[in-house]
Parts: sequence; structure tokens; C-alpha cells
Amino acid sequence: MRRLLFTLVLFFLLSAAQAQQDFTPTSEASYGQNGDVRFVQIPTNDCMNVTATPIIVGDWLVYPSHTRRECGIDGAPLDKVLFGYNLTDGQLYNLYEGAKGEAVLAYDVANGAVYWTVTFGGNLIVFDAPDMTERMRVELGSTADSSPTLLNGVAYLGTINGPSASCQQPINPDCGKMVAVDSGGQILYSLGYDNGLRAWFGTSPTNDGTYLYWGSAAQTVGEKSGDETEYLYGCSVIKTDAELNILASFDPGELACHELPFTGANMDSVSGEVVPDGTGLWVQYVRPNDDEMTSYIYRLDLDLQEQCRFAFDFAPQTQATGFYSAPTVDAAGNAYAAVSVPDDTAMRKGLLVKLSPNCEQTVLAEVAGSFAHSSPTLADDQYVLFATDGRLQILTLDGAPVRDYTLASTARVLASPVIHNGVIYVLQEDGALNIIENSGVQGYGNAIWPRYRHDNAGTGQLGAQRLDASAAALPPSDGGQGPKGAFVAFHLEVSRGPRVRTLWPLLEQFMALADRYNVKVTLQFSTTWADYVYRSGVLETVQAWENNGHEIALHHHGPTHKFFDGYTNAPDAIRTDGWYATEGSYLGTIDNLMAFMAPLSQRGITSAGMSDEETDWPAGVLYFATDSGETPSRDDLLSTPVETVHNGYPVVEIYNAGYEIAHLGDAAVTLADVEAALQMAGADEYLGLVFNDETIESDFALIEPLFQLLAQNNVQVETVSTLMAAR
Ligand SMILES: [Zn+2]
Repeated sequence: MRRLLFTLVLFFLLSAAQAQQDFTPTSEASYGQNGDVRFVQIPTNDCMNVTATPIIVGDWLVYPSHTRRECGIDGAPLDKVLFGYNLTDGQLYNLYEGAKGEAVLAYDVANGAVYWTVTFGGNLIVFDAPDMTERMRVELGSTADSSPTLLNGVAYLGTINGPSASCQQPINPDCGKMVAVDSGGQILYSLGYDNGLRAWFGTSPTNDGTYLYWGSAAQTVGEKSGDETEYLYGCSVIKTDAELNILASFDPGELACHELPFTGANMDSVSGEVVPDGTGLWVQYVRPNDDEMTSYIYRLDLDLQEQCRFAFDFAPQTQATGFYSAPTVDAAGNAYAAVSVPDDTAMRKGLLVKLSPNCEQTVLAEVAGSFAHSSPTLADDQYVLFATDGRLQILTLDGAPVRDYTLASTARVLASPVIHNGVIYVLQEDGALNIIENSGVQGYGNAIWPRYRHDNAGTGQLGAQRLDASAAALPPSDGGQGPKGAFVAFHLEVSRGPRVRTLWPLLEQFMALADRYNVKVTLQFSTTWADYVYRSGVLETVQAWENNGHEIALHHHGPTHKFFDGYTNAPDAIRTDGWYATEGSYLGTIDNLMAFMAPLSQRGITSAGMSDEETDWPAGVLYFATDSGETPSRDDLLSTPVETVHNGYPVVEIYNAGYEIAHLGDAAVTLADVEAALQMAGADEYLGLVFNDETIESDFALIEPLFQLLAQNNVQVETVSTLMAAR
């Protein structure tokens, strides 16, 4: 995996340098500097309505031009261009001409495809990435003004359902539908009017790796709009599976949409995107859900049940937030949202609010006379970037001001600030791109959902790897600096009692050896080893190891493992066929397992190695030391952490390779492999080794040379939880 990634990234750099020559520089662009802010401006007018947060594709910062609907087809100069700001030469290019779009593009790195939903010039355009040449156009029967979300190589998106004749006269069943498209342009699933669903998907769908979350706007059918006698999922939150089966919906206030008594866009649409954070969802509405002049942000659980709501004053002249704005979520699960509210002295003021999952609300910043229509962006687990009209503020997570920048123009900001390789990019509604270097901000940190669409690939997926991290990691990969960290995970395997009793003295010897070399071991206990500890009165020994800096972790074999330990949340999956048959021993759920293991650790178990993680991942465990693929691999010796979700819980995975474990055959690494890895490790990579019962039983003599090698290279072995918490 790591080598593949390295090759891919190299390929990106080479091909981007090549591709750049194939595109035309935007000759109308002008370049300027205002204090610490560099900027690129294009000819513009009041029709200009650039809304999409940029994504990164290879060497390009990519975003489309767009104009207001009411301005017609030719609304502004350069209104039908897909722009690419080249990160190497600092020039703006026209990557594509002849289409316009409102929504963020989505880059499926694994399939080399970039998806662009357009409001003019087609429906959906797919590009080959990273060279950004057109692969194909996909006909959906209607245009789209929200972004796709990417799940398992499939792009999920919704179409528009406006009041215009193209959707309503006659009724076009392709308006207001959900659709799933693969990178070859094939439509895999679709759900729409014929299935009892018709809603304007101006809100971009998201996913958590398993389920999709959709927000919607007007459910217009023909002449009928705002007179909601039938529920077609308008102005709601909808949860579906990957085959577009509806699992739940949430529709606050009036049935379906609430129409406000003024002209123009006047429905209570969901704004931006529905943000999943692993334990629940954050949902912001652009307008009130009923006759009260109050707009809301809702906290929902994963079944779309309301947990709490946050109320804000509302006035017709101020939509509560942008159509492309939604809360973002820090590493601790707090949400940050931009809200525009009426103001006594000016027309409106922009607020930055912080919302906790247990329903507390704090106002972090207030900007008089300004809209707050841009998703806040989170940086370095310390800062929040808040963009208002012509201005970017950097604040601490408690709202203390850190930096304040004046942008290229006074225009609104509808896109979320982007961070890439320590540079901040802020795109304004009039098309001005601001570039801020030396702000002190590095990246997105460990935030659960740091920017609109989650990451710089625009995946809209919780836990998706952030493009920014892999790109930023490239330069130090020339080796010589050693890995960022190293760990030794010890699988104390599921065995019978007598065998554990035989091996226990060897484990004590191993731990003494580790202490001599100051190696901190991650001891993954299975139930059989825990049972031995309790019955043999050696709990104090285990607690002393923990107090000495070693980690007490979990090792679990679920029902699909040959040696099942008896605990699972999926008893139906227990195998009774052939040699997988386990001796009729269902012992309980994973909660029961964790209760059984609890006495082993005074600190609490926070990392694991296990099978069947999709059903059995335990609550409260944060880190997973495992294989990157289905089976053990030598390539997992060096890896970078991956954020994902198992069994509904956010998990950080880091990979490891078996050290001199004979039964792994070619998948086991040798001392020479470790030595080579220390030379080639990138500064962002971790060296991960696995020992198990076999290591101390058959290969004890091979352990000390490893510890010596690590010591000679000044590699400090830490526990999985220590390394991942500090990453
Ligand atoms: Zn095992």
C-alpha cells in the first residue's frame, strides 16, 4: 500500500508538470498582493456567484465558475470555466470551458476519476485524474447543483427540482432524484418520483463508510409547491444504504417544506451537507421550519432521532447560512457553525458558534454588518478559520483572536477555507482567490470533519484519507530520518489454559528484556490470557507493566476466526461448518467481553487487534493495529495512520507486519527487512511489528537483535495508543 501510494504521488507530480502545458493560462486573470495576502482576480460583475470550495487534484487547486440563476446563461465574463490554480507556478488556468457548476468537485483517487456536477453544459462530467482530461459526460435527465459523495468507488448525488418548466411542465421524473454512478459512467442505482421521493438535492450527500446521509429542499411537483399534502422527503434529512434504500428520515416543523411568506427562494432547506461524526449528525437549516422566526441547527443520533436543537433569530433579509455551508467537527466532537442573524443596528451580523454534542452553545465571534455563509475550517486541533465578507479570521477553538486578514475584495465568502501544505486558500463569491502563506497554520489536524466535504479530495466521507496528508508527506520520503514512530504489538493468542500456563514465564522474560532496552510493548490480551491472569494471581504483574509504560490492549477473535473466543455482537455469524466449527461456546456480546477484560487495565483499553471489526468493534477503543489488506503483508511494516469507522465508531488504523513468525511464511519480516525499512522510512511513517505466542516460544533468540538494531538507530518503541494520540 505504502509503495503504491509513493508511486502514485510521484506519478502525480510528474504528470501534473506535463499536464500544465496542455492547458491555457487564464489570460484575463490579474495577480496582486495586499499585506500578507496574495490574490488572483478575474473580471467579474454582480452576477458572479462562485460557491464551490476548491479541491486538490495533483498539482491543481480546482473550482468552477458560476453565476446567479436569474442572470441567465451569459451572466458574467468567464462564467463557464473550470479553473485550476497551479500550485507550482502560481498561475490560474482554464481546465475546461463550456460548463458551470455550483458544487464542490469530488476526486476518487483510487479510480483516478474527478466528478463535476454542472448546472449548465451537461449534467455530470467525469475527468481522468490527475491530468484533468474529460473522460465522459453522464446524462442524468436533469442537472445537479450539489456535490457527489464517494463510497466504495461509486459517486452518489442528487439532482435539482426547481420550479422551472424543464422540471415541472411536464413533470420530469429525473428531477429531485438520488442516483449512484460508477467511474465508468454507469448508473447503478436510482431513487425518485416513481418511488415516492422528489426533492431538490441542493444539499450535498455525505457518508460514514456504510450509510449515506442526504439533506433536501423543495419537493415541487408540477404546479404544486409549498402546499404539502403528501410527503416526498422534501426539506428533510434522509438516511439510505449504498443501494439507495431509505432507512430513516427527519422532517422537523411543518410536514415536508415550510414556505415563508416572501418571494424568491423561500423554503426551509437543509444547508450545505449533513455532517456525520461517528456518533451522530449535525444538521443546519437555511430558514425556519415553521411559523416561528427561528432557524435551527439540530443534533441527531445515527437513526435520525433528535438529540437537541440550537435556536437562532431569523429575519427574511438574512438566510441563516449559505447553501454551501454546514457545521464542521473538531477532534473532541464539538461542532463549529456559521450563522447569520438579524442585527439591531446593521442589517445583519455573522456569528461563529461552537456547539457541544451534549447541547451546549457558545458564541466565539460576531461580525457586524456581514453574512456568515461559509463553513468554518478547523486547523491543527487549535484553530478555527472563520470567513465573512472580505475578511478571514483565525481564532482559537475558544474564540480568542489569533490573526485577521483583509481579503482581495469585499465580496461574501461562500466556500470553506482550504488548507494545503500549510497554505490557506480562500475563494470569494466574485471569483477572487486569496492565498495566505506563513499564517502559522499547518493542516487539518485530527479534526473529525475539518472542512466542507470533509477533505481536500471532496469525498464527503467520514474517515476518508485526507489528500493533504499524503501530499504533504512526500518531500521527506528521501529517507535517512527514520520513521515517525515505532511500535511492537504482541498478540496474546486465543489458546487453551495449559498452553498459556506454559508460555507465561516466557512472557515475563520477554517483558524484562523489553525493559532492558526501554521498549514499550503493546500487549494485546485475548480472553484466554486474561482468564489465566485472574486465576493465577498475576494481575499485579500486569498492572506493574502498565505502570511502567507498556500498554494493555485487546486481542479478539470474532466468529469468522478459526479460533473464536466466544464473544460477538453477531452470534448468527458463528460458524458451525468444517474446521471452523467452534465448540458451541457463545459467551456473550462485545460489551460482555470488555467487562471481562476491564480489570486488566487501570487506564482503560484504547487499542486493539482483532477480526470481525465491522460487527464487534468495541465502544471506547480508538486505535486498531492491524493488516492493511485481508491478510498479513510485509508491506505493512511501514504505514501512515488511516481514519475510518468500524461498527459505527471512529477508529484510527495503523498497520503492522509479523516479525519472524514462521507460519506467516513470506508475509513475515526479517531483521534485514526492518533494517531496510529504517533507511527508507518517510518522516510521516510508523514502523509496526507484531509478535505472538510463537515468537517467544520458538524464536526468543531473534528478539534481542531486533531491540539492539532499534536502539542503534535511536528508534524509541512506544505503544500504539501513545503514538496515535500524539500523531
Ligand atoms: Zn490473533
